[in-house]
Amino acid sequence: MRLTVYYNTKNYDYLIVGTGPFGAIFAHEAAQRGKRSLIIDRRSHVGGNLYTHKAHGITVHDYGAHIFHTDNKQVWDYLNQFTAFNQYINQVMANYKGDLYNLPFNMNTFYQMWGVKTPAEAQDRINKQRQAATIKGSPKNLEEQAIYLIGTEIYDKLIKGYTEKQWGRKATDLPSFIIRRLPIRFTFDNNYFNHRYQGVPVDGYTAIFNKLLDHELIDIQLNTDFFTDKTTYLSEFPRLVYTGMIDQYFDYKFGELAYRSVRFESEVLPTDNAQGNAIINYTDIETPYTRSIEWRHFDQKGDSDMSILTHEYPQEWDCSKEAYYPINDQKNSALFKKYRKEANKLDKVIIGGRLGNYQYYDMDQVIHAALVAVDKEFNR
Ligand code: FAD
Repeated sequence: MRLTVYYNTKNYDYLIVGTGPFGAIFAHEAAQRGKRSLIIDRRSHVGGNLYTHKAHGITVHDYGAHIFHTDNKQVWDYLNQFTAFNQYINQVMANYKGDLYNLPFNMNTFYQMWGVKTPAEAQDRINKQRQAATIKGSPKNLEEQAIYLIGTEIYDKLIKGYTEKQWGRKATDLPSFIIRRLPIRFTFDNNYFNHRYQGVPVDGYTAIFNKLLDHELIDIQLNTDFFTDKTTYLSEFPRLVYTGMIDQYFDYKFGELAYRSVRFESEVLPTDNAQGNAIINYTDIETPYTRSIEWRHFDQKGDSDMSILTHEYPQEWDCSKEAYYPINDQKNSALFKKYRKEANKLDKVIIGGRLGNYQYYDMDQVIHAALVAVDKEFNR
């Protein structure tokens, strides 16, 4: 880690903390408008959680599988300036104790689960299970909400174990809003997303960031944590864009926000096809990981007979781990509101991105948010 005190000798207009999509797009757009930025990241690479690297000719996503999908044409066109996308359509399989089912829940799933062949038969099964469960009043927790939406059997086999592993809590202790809506289709359609535009960048995501940040008005400093020099940075730079954790920015003065984290474990296998699909969800409670990703199947061939498989193990977060998923329950949402109120009082600091907003943003949402922030900044 670099611990040198930084002095703004180049008269930068912006210090940008975080080289993920929010920070990198802001730096790029500022440079397009003639503004100079120093962008720092505590990691040893650019790209934030979208960072990818190549091994055995295969692109691996270091922070979990990232499939781009959006209905937002402006965002789609924006990103297409920096990359081409492949034709990958996400079709996820679920493995429950060795039995395989298609996701999201659709006629293929219902056929595999019950042998039903028509939408009416599937609907009838779900309705009967829903009625038998006799949930009183509106659903009070995630379990009741899921049963209300899809019935008991799919809940037990495909939702309960996965969700309890993911959040580290019993489904009966989780709020119902986590799954207010479930993608349920009464058609034979395995496309995981409903969005119009979908794919994975042909050269990986890192290539996008190399292009975004390749500008004479942008300097990059990696292995640099904002908090080692916060006071100096704040006094030296006219404006700050901060995409780290909002509670940390304010020295946790109202308390710590909670997150879930994930541990990724990869292995190289001497085969060109280990599991026959990019993503398999393990939905029983006994298997310790939630997902298994075989990167080759993201519509890329690789240049060898090797395959790389990554397993995702959800874990409790503490400050030695990466914060991935905000826990937007009532307590944390109320705490976040207090920090947001403080952030709104700062006149030279923009706090943005998923950690700055304590929001699970998909990539298209964070890109949109960055473009909105740019618009606001340069039309002040
Ligand atoms: P990030 O990408 O997290 O970047 C923030 C950067 O700031 C990081 O590099 C961090 O090191 C740096 N930073 C933080 N604090 C400091 C500090 N104090 N000093 C210096 N640097 C700092 N979205 C999709 O659309 N499709 C998907 O399939 C998808 N899959 C996902 C899978 C997982 C496991 C996760 C966790 C997320 C997924 N996402 C997906 C969401 C996507 O990762 C986010 O939308 C995106 O990363 C948010 O961008 P960001 O710039 O806000 O933050």
